[in-house]
Amino acid sequence: MNDLINKAKTEHSLDKEELVSLLSCESGEQIFKAADVIRRDYVGDEVHLRALIEFSNICRCDCVYCGLRFENRDVERYRMSADRIIEAAFKAVDFGYKTIVLQSGEDSFFTAGYLADIIKEIKQNDVAVTLSIGERTFEEYKILKAAGADRFLLRIETTDRRLYQKCHPGASFENRIRCLKDLKKLGFETGTGCLVGLPGQTIESLAEDILFFKELNADMIGIGPLIVHPHTPLKDMQNGSLDLALRVMALTRLLLPDINIPATTAMETLNPAGRILALQSGANVVMPNLTDKDVCAKYEIYPNKSGVNYTELSEKLRSIGRTISHKKGYRGNTDCPLTLNPSPAGRGKHTNTARYLRKNMTPQELKFWNLVRNSQFENTKFKRQYPIGKYIVDFVVIQKMLVIELDGGGHNTPEQQKYDEERTKYLKSRGFKILRFWNNDIDNNIDGVFETISLALRERD
Ligand code: SF4
Repeated sequence: MNDLINKAKTEHSLDKEELVSLLSCESGEQIFKAADVIRRDYVGDEVHLRALIEFSNICRCDCVYCGLRFENRDVERYRMSADRIIEAAFKAVDFGYKTIVLQSGEDSFFTAGYLADIIKEIKQNDVAVTLSIGERTFEEYKILKAAGADRFLLRIETTDRRLYQKCHPGASFENRIRCLKDLKKLGFETGTGCLVGLPGQTIESLAEDILFFKELNADMIGIGPLIVHPHTPLKDMQNGSLDLALRVMALTRLLLPDINIPATTAMETLNPAGRILALQSGANVVMPNLTDKDVCAKYEIYPNKSGVNYTELSEKLRSIGRTISHKKGYRGNTDCPLTLNPSPAGRGKHTNTARYLRKNMTPQELKFWNLVRNSQFENTKFKRQYPIGKYIVDFVVIQKMLVIELDGGGHNTPEQQKYDEERTKYLKSRGFKILRFWNNDIDNNIDGVFETISLALRERD
């Protein structure tokens, strides 16, 4: 198990079989700890608060686990007016929230054009807007994006197609996937996630869910344990397991290290310490509910939803060494949406940065790469511009935990030397050996360079 966790920590990749074995091993403790380390390395100790406004509980869908399903006649339905939604959002802005989440059932009253006007009003403030309003057409998503919406949440709930159809009567799995792909294509920070504890759900299908998140390259993932609602077809089922939901969440953090992951309300509802446990197992987001009091209780996807008390939360966060963020908190804990960040020192956006660096190698890096690529040197697999924690190293041999850095003259400045020292300290703490060569060595003494590497590889056998 240790080997698998180390692999997940360094390579951020596991196959289905490996995920299944971690999801079903005796204790999740080590997985939670590893996810906590990776969370800290990639997105830091700040917790992003997103103000949730549930503006309509009217829904055309019939999801079997949801108290808001169309067939449930025991719900008092409501729909907030545009003015009320905007007022609630402005109140959240006054409280200092940097993200407003507008959530509703699939309510066709709120056309894309109508919502676009609301979004434009809210975006007069310096805030990010997240939507969670269900399936729409590409054209509708386009209108919402053009109005300024930054993010979109649409959980897949399960990637097991048969189970999906059973749990979502009348819905189409293919359309769900189409929606997620459209959202990515349009440049939304795209969130998805799954429900843990659906009837007939297997560990294998949860492993597939995690692989799906990775394949989609989702920017946010919300994992909820099932909480049974008494007015749904699942009323006689057991609630989902918090431990299993935390494992799915922690493994998602290991595979997608720089994304945003909420400590979901459902976790806190199952266990009064659920939110803090989640924040210590990979999560970095909390979504306090700022819906007007008179309608808030009517948005009952599941019963006994737990609330967030701001003072209590900030105290709890302080007690575990975390702070409340005052940023919009885009993926990678940045304050601006997806852009290419060419700075190797920059936090987050590692995938983009690594890709950028691979395309823009120095002549020495290119020379070195051409001599080691395709395992041609001592049959050893080198990776280039590879993210490890918050750093991107020039070259690494993962199997031997050996990092190779090629330095130019810029590394002579005191600031860069300090940065290099911290980087070396960090990499050593993760068990890596670091070899540094000057560009000059690559130009004039390449045989000497490879001799040193060869020795180090043997040492690490
Ligand atoms: S889960 Fe969402 S889409 Fe499904 S019934 Fe509930 S509110 Fe509607």
